[in-house]
Amino acid sequence: DNLSSQPESVVVDKLLGGLLAPGFDEESCISRYQSNLYRKISPHKPSAYLVSKLRKYEDLHKRCGPYTESYNRTLKELSSSHINGTVDCNYIVWTPSNGLGNRIISMASSFLYAVLTDRVLLVDHGPDMTDLFCEPFPDASWVLPKDFPLSNQFYGLQPGNVHSYGHLLWANSMNISAVTQSPSFLYLYLAYNYDNYDKLFYQDQNQGFLQKIPWLILKSDQYFVPYLFLIPSFQQELGNLFPDKETVFHHLVRYLFHPSNQAWGLITRFHQAYLASADQRIGLQVRVFNRKASPIKVVLEQILSCIQKEKLLPQVDEKKHIASPSKNKTSRAITIASLYPEYYESIKNMYWMKPTVNGDVIGVYQPSHEEFQHFGNNIHNIKAWAEIYILSLSDVLVTSSWSTFGYVAQGLGGLKPWMLYVPTGDKTTDRPCPRATSMEPCFHFPPNYYKNARTRRRLDSVSLVPHIMQCEDTSNGIKLV
Ligand code: GDP
Repeated sequence: DNLSSQPESVVVDKLLGGLLAPGFDEESCISRYQSNLYRKISPHKPSAYLVSKLRKYEDLHKRCGPYTESYNRTLKELSSSHINGTVDCNYIVWTPSNGLGNRIISMASSFLYAVLTDRVLLVDHGPDMTDLFCEPFPDASWVLPKDFPLSNQFYGLQPGNVHSYGHLLWANSMNISAVTQSPSFLYLYLAYNYDNYDKLFYQDQNQGFLQKIPWLILKSDQYFVPYLFLIPSFQQELGNLFPDKETVFHHLVRYLFHPSNQAWGLITRFHQAYLASADQRIGLQVRVFNRKASPIKVVLEQILSCIQKEKLLPQVDEKKHIASPSKNKTSRAITIASLYPEYYESIKNMYWMKPTVNGDVIGVYQPSHEEFQHFGNNIHNIKAWAEIYILSLSDVLVTSSWSTFGYVAQGLGGLKPWMLYVPTGDKTTDRPCPRATSMEPCFHFPPNYYKNARTRRRLDSVSLVPHIMQCEDTSNGIKLV
């Protein structure tokens, strides 16, 4: 047949080392099987155990997905406040919070939690995230049906909600065994501003109770995977799934997030027009969280000093108008992603006005400059997604510290980025863009009970676990290495 006549390596690579299931309709999601044409083969192979676990998850999802018999039966549980019958499928419903990068890292975390706890992940994408991604699982949707009974409550979900797990723990003086009747659903509020009760989700002794709840509704904008590695009852399974801890997000993000045909059009047209013929592609993400605090001129100086100190691009020759003739002129294409146009304009102008010292030809491009983060806008999100993906196709990547937008690009690309410190105030810093230790995202707001209450110093739980370190870009955060 057709498949067996192809060299084996081509077939294997198309499925990313077995990460992706075969058999999807290719036309409806061209990126799924064609992303391999745009990047180098990842040196990081998924473990055979991860691959088999993903296939098992897909079976579960197919059996329990929206409108299946099991789904309909489990949905009935919501009509009473406590569990009445027995159910054969349990769910975790992901709800959006914050920007696209935040959403992708928290969906990836929720999926891993679903896999670890035999739950089915359903996502509430709302109107501003339709048309971004393809369906990740074969033969069954991951989109939460619009008629889901609790949907109208998600938007206002806040810390301290009476149906949250944190509240239940608080109401029972932290003694979960005092709760005799299990509720049919609970909210897990795990976004950055969660309270001390919500944080108790991360304690191992509280996890067992959750197993009995058919519907968990989660709100989070965080990459909470590193903390799952600190929960003893998950550790062995996580170790089997991911022998190489640094690749967790890399595998999850490439498994789950395939650009829709609309987004893929933006990505491939940009790539073909500006990047395909370059010898080297450089991605530079400039995320300025506070325009007033970080003047354009200072940020630009920081970028240029990063490029120079880390030798990411050649300098310009101020004394010449024309580069010395040389045989091998390397062409380099730099893609700048930013809400603002000024960094692009300055860098483009710099390489237009003067030649490079070694004769390299530098093309400078920026796909869009949206000026501010638009909320609730589908096209804005498609552009953001396309730019994240374009950055991930780079050979060399510079991200901005603290930005989840950059984390997704580095994970998709399997790249250890240089992390640009966007300065606040009027001074640049000595090390403008140190190299990240791993390609994993940072968990910005882990629960802080690993700090000693009296001294406020960090307990050693983090250093007790190998493969977890403090993030480079925030000392409160933790990441896998
Ligand atoms: P973070 O705030 O940097 O952690 O990243 P998020 O993706 O969570 O939120 C930032 C949001 O602002 C993005 O989702 C976009 O909506 C917008 N945004 C920020 N930087 C860019 C950019 O370089 N390009 C585009 N198109 N949008 C951006």
